[in-house]
Amino acid sequence: MSIKDNIEYINRRKEKAALKSGRTGDDVLLVAVTKLHTAAEMNEAIDAGITDIAENKVQEIVRKYDDVKSVRWHLIGHLQTNKVRQVIDKVCMIHSVDSFHLAQEIDKRAAQHGLVMDILVQVNTAHEDSKFGVSPEDADELILKIAENCENIRIKGIMCMAPFEIDPEDARPFFTEAKEIFDRYAAQEAAERIDFKYLSMGMTNDYEVAIEEGSNLIRVGTAIFGNRDYRSEEK
Ligand SMILES: *Cc1c(COP(=O)(O)O)cnc(C)c1O
Repeated sequence: MSIKDNIEYINRRKEKAALKSGRTGDDVLLVAVTKLHTAAEMNEAIDAGITDIAENKVQEIVRKYDDVKSVRWHLIGHLQTNKVRQVIDKVCMIHSVDSFHLAQEIDKRAAQHGLVMDILVQVNTAHEDSKFGVSPEDADELILKIAENCENIRIKGIMCMAPFEIDPEDARPFFTEAKEIFDRYAAQEAAERIDFKYLSMGMTNDYEVAIEEGSNLIRVGTAIFGNRDYRSEEK
């Protein structure tokens, strides 16, 4: 199957899952995760209708940026503060904000560029091994602190990941917990700098379940591009 075929297939399944939760396929944004894939593959996906792509590493964005057609770039992986300045003018949204320290650095760099950066707060609903993401109990404090202090940031929602390699059916509770946090803010008369729009959850293995549980942004790599070759990583 070609990249184009894969995207069409995902779009059909996305539509079906969205209908199950009273929405349509257009209510759910498909973001193509392109880590370890080439600029040529990325351009093929863009030609097939992909408008948004995501990388998990700053270096990969910087390396491929000039070779990829016009598209919206998302950063979805752990971000070190010393790398923020390399991507601040390249990405449209950072999904992986899980500390005030990181938010402050994003705020500072955004101000230097005269822009406002959209971010998602990464919540670790899996309460486990992953060292990334703020715990659900601490999410409110982080959201409010960023909103209060970071003029050059807009908090656009929540990102979460289910634990790796679990049955997608077993991922539902993790998605539900993220949805609860999302709903609380989405329903509010938005405070300044809090403008919840995205609930980023669902990957190749579990995007249909994630959509059924309310996701409106899925991050899909393998189902579009095939398996990643991690041996190429250190090139
Ligand atoms: C790699 C990655 C994805 C996509 O994973 P697939 O299983 O290939 O769809 C989604 N989100 C994050 C944060 C990732 O690092």
